[in-house]
Amino acid sequence: MIPTTIAGSLPKPAWLAEPNKLWAPWRLGGPELQAAKLDATLLAIKLQEDAGIDVVTDGEQSRQHFVHGFLENVAGIDFAHKVEIGIRNNRYKAMVPTVSGALRLKGRVHEPEARHARAHTTRKLRFTLPGPMTIVDTVADQHYGDRTKMALAFADTLNAEARALERDGVDVIQFDEPAFNVYMDEVTTWGIEALHRAIDGLKCTTAVHICYGYGIKANIDWKASLGGEWRQYEKIFPALAASRINQVSVECRNSKVPISLLSLLKGKDVLVGVIDVASDEIETPEQVAATIETVIKHVPKEHVVAGTNCGMAPMHRNIAQAKLAALGKGAELARKKFG
Ligand code: ZN
Repeated sequence: MIPTTIAGSLPKPAWLAEPNKLWAPWRLGGPELQAAKLDATLLAIKLQEDAGIDVVTDGEQSRQHFVHGFLENVAGIDFAHKVEIGIRNNRYKAMVPTVSGALRLKGRVHEPEARHARAHTTRKLRFTLPGPMTIVDTVADQHYGDRTKMALAFADTLNAEARALERDGVDVIQFDEPAFNVYMDEVTTWGIEALHRAIDGLKCTTAVHICYGYGIKANIDWKASLGGEWRQYEKIFPALAASRINQVSVECRNSKVPISLLSLLKGKDVLVGVIDVASDEIETPEQVAATIETVIKHVPKEHVVAGTNCGMAPMHRNIAQAKLAALGKGAELARKKFG
């Protein structure tokens, strides 16, 4: 009961990439970089295992960014011509690659780290991919001229990689869709349709992660503008409850999301964010257990998984590690108290 996992990413060691930065440049190149990514993957797994995390990830050590890491192996994307656009409804500016032709997967994207992770842990393995809507929102289109069409094309490339990850031995495949909290109407018109296309034919557990973003300034400012109650989830949860996705990963800790909204996810496993990634303050096990206690008033406890609000990629390593430990200990405490 109440197993633990993380949303996906952990900070990278300073010898791999510049620390405490999104889109951090790599410190190495060529074969040295490839080997270093796998070494960092092992470390990420070990840290999670030691913290008592039940369903571990590769810590996203092999990708520079959760969206662009996938796009690097998609034909039809021009990385040589990056342009600056406003993303997440203009919340912040980013340099993004251009879609210049029909999208097609050039080959495997995450095979080395998925297989390396699988070979070195006996725990359940969770693997994250960007969701179609979030990808569409993080590229500049010069080819499709239609967000739905482009999302479905991306979904086909994601599906090819997801099927291969399943063959690599991955137990849970999660699609990260922070854009679901921004374009709520599109979630029902084409967002879930694109997700269904991405999970087509998968037998493993599937998940979608919908959060309010990393703890970077643009997101903190945005959250401050959302008022006393964040009700974005209310608009999209009924459609997600009716979807074929098995698990929904949401933000709860230090969040203004009314926890009662989680009851709208009837029938789904809910990955409850009990660790705030936007604050360096380390949660106590008691605080973690208290968040779980609020959640089990609205979600049957056999459907509750304890996790982090979002990825920890831009955090300080020692803080992320302490938060991992708090997650493990807090869930253990919750099992004792409410099990
Ligand atoms: Zn997130």
